[in-house]
Amino acid sequence: MTRSERDRRIQSLLRQPCGCTGQCGNRHARGTCGHRPSHLKRHCAAPPDPSAPFDPESELLSWCSVCYNAAVRRGHEAREQQAEQDLLDMQEELF
Ligand SMILES: [Zn+2]
Ligand SMILES: [Zn+2]
Repeated sequence: MTRSERDRRIQSLLRQPCGCTGQCGNRHARGTCGHRPSHLKRHCAAPPDPSAPFDPESELLSWCSVCYNAAVRRGHEAREQQAEQDLLDMQEELF
């Protein structure tokens, strides 16, 4: 994919309703958030797990700012908890 193809894809993606399926912690009644972007509330393009390290080849979703911020925070918290758990598990094996 060329740079401009990708830019065009993102441009059209940003006009789509929010594609969050609950990563923000909110159970969206219709399956996805569906929030529509407006000139006041712009969307951003991010992977389905927006807290993951950015991978240019990954699938992108249109995110409203509310879902995006919540999903990033939740993703980081989950990763921190996992890291803590791994650390504990590692030490358990030592004793
Ligand atoms: Zn959401
Ligand atoms: Zn949303």
